[in-house]
This record gives sequence, C-alpha cells and structure tokens, in this order.
Amino acid sequence: MSAAKEILKPASKLLITEFSKRGITLKPTISYQLISAAFGFWSHESTVDYTVPFEVLNDRHYFGAKPKFHHSLLCERVERLLNLDHQRSKDLTLLIVDLLTHHHPIRVQTLKVLYEPVYDATREMIFRVLQSKSSEPSHLASVAIALNQLPALPANTIDGHLRLMCSAPMIVDKERKTVGEFIDQAPTWIWCYPSPFVKEAFPSLADQGFRKPRIEDEWMVPAVKPRTEIGIGFVLLQQCASEFADVAYSVISGHYELETTVSSSKWSAIKVVKIPRDDVTYHGHKALPEILGHPVDELPLLSRCSTCGELKGVAEGTPISCCSSKK
Ligand SMILES: [Zn+2]
Repeated sequence: MSAAKEILKPASKLLITEFSKRGITLKPTISYQLISAAFGFWSHESTVDYTVPFEVLNDRHYFGAKPKFHHSLLCERVERLLNLDHQRSKDLTLLIVDLLTHHHPIRVQTLKVLYEPVYDATREMIFRVLQSKSSEPSHLASVAIALNQLPALPANTIDGHLRLMCSAPMIVDKERKTVGEFIDQAPTWIWCYPSPFVKEAFPSLADQGFRKPRIEDEWMVPAVKPRTEIGIGFVLLQQCASEFADVAYSVISGHYELETTVSSSKWSAIKVVKIPRDDVTYHGHKALPEILGHPVDELPLLSRCSTCGELKGVAEGTPISCCSSKK
C-alpha cells in the first residue's frame, strides 16, 4: 500500500460508512479518488506519482496549512464516479468536506513540499493544484513563496534553516544564549515535520500567507495579531527538568515573520521559541514516543563535527552538510 493510502485509509473508511448510512455503496478505490479530488487532485494516482505528503491533523487546532477544499472539482467527481444528479452530488460534497474538516482532518504538509529537494521537479505543480483560485494570492505562505507572490526565504532547506538558526538568540535559564550554544550543552535531537498533535511545535509549523485584515483584528493584542509567517519545519528536542513529570523536553521551534513597510517587504531573521513539554500520557494527550512510534532518542542526534566544528546529523534522511559531505 502506498504511504499516501496508509494515511488516507481511516478517512476512506469513514467516507464509506457515512455514504452507506445514506444508502450509497462507495468502493474503497472510489473513496480515494474523492479524497484526492477534495484537495484539487484529479486522481488518487496523481497524488501517488507526486508523493503528495498528506498528514492527519489535530482536530482541535488548526495550525499551519489550513486545508482549502475544491468544492467544484469534488462535486464533478462525485457526480461522475457515482452517477448521481447534481443536487445529490452537491450534498455529498458538503458531507465529504465536513468529514475531512471536523471528523478526520487531513491536510497536505506544505512545508515539506517547500523545503524538501525531492519536490524540486513537482513543487510548482503541487502548489498550483492546492491554490484553487489562481487569481488570488495564496492563503499559504509556502505556496506564495514558491509561486513568487512573496519574497524568497533566507534559506530553502532544513539544513539551511538550521545553519541560520544556530546564531539566533534564545533565553535559557534567564540567560541569553545562541541556539548553537544551547545545542552544545546537552544531547539535542532534530525532528523534521513534527506532528501537528504536538502543540509545542506550532511555531515551526506556521504557514500563514496573505489574509485580508478583518475588523476584529484591531481588538486583538499585538502578540496574537495574525501575520504572514512561516515555520522552519523542524523542532529541536533536549531533555530538561520538570516538577511535574519524570521526563520533560525543551521544544525549540523557529519561524520567519514578514516585515512589511510601505515600500518593501522582507522576511525577518528566525525567531526562536522555546517551550517546555512534560512528556506524559493523560486523557487527550500522548507522550512523544507514542506520537513518534519510537523512543525520542531514536530521532537523529545533532553533534559537532570534530574536523570543522559545524553541526552534523541527518534531517529527513538527508545528511546535514559539513566538511565531510562537501565535495
Ligand atoms: Zn565537518
């Protein structure tokens, strides 16, 4: 089974169950076609060919890429694949969107498409599909950057963000340090494209493009004003002490914010956010090993190269480059 199918399988089962309650027999193969169409892809096969990285979302929080559904394509596919009239297809389209929004939320991990070299050839195609109305600037910063609607980022890869982040300031035990110094103080693991179920990782998962200012924005405190921002796509984890749990981690995230003046706009330096996380399981909250499917110390460890002193490790299967990997 393809990786995409594995992630989409529970959603497919949900669609089949909900359709059968309404007297419609939905074949599994058709359910995958409908899920792909909901995101704007003409067929499930095309999402497999382009290895579109779907992921399951936290159903209580949307952070980062908020999915936009393609109602008209989905309706057209429902009508054709199930041979139903237009009104019935419209009702079922709304049902599918509701299921994929509230009951089994799924989205495309757009940061992965933006940062991973494996998408160099297909990035533009995937992003053009996700952006339903080409006349409007994208609501996703990732898409807007790739399609040149926003300035280019200072770095385009996980490796590049990590390099820039090393000199960025952060506060550790009331002391100002750089991220590099923080990494040197204890074993530090890197987790690329962390699960959206880990709320401490939210700053790294930000993907907020253009948004029309709304009247209620004026009443919000400046710190939570919606802004154009994009996360670096990974977090660093380092064990820390906690009063409440045997195991706790400092979760280090980072994001860029768009700084706009009348005449120009550019991306800020990486803003580093450090959030402690008690790693315990209780109702509605899973410990990291449960979310990861393996112990935290099986994540790639960052270390200093003994020759050049730069960081080495592995990010999403690709070595973080230092002297030994440079030719
Ligand atoms: Zn080296």
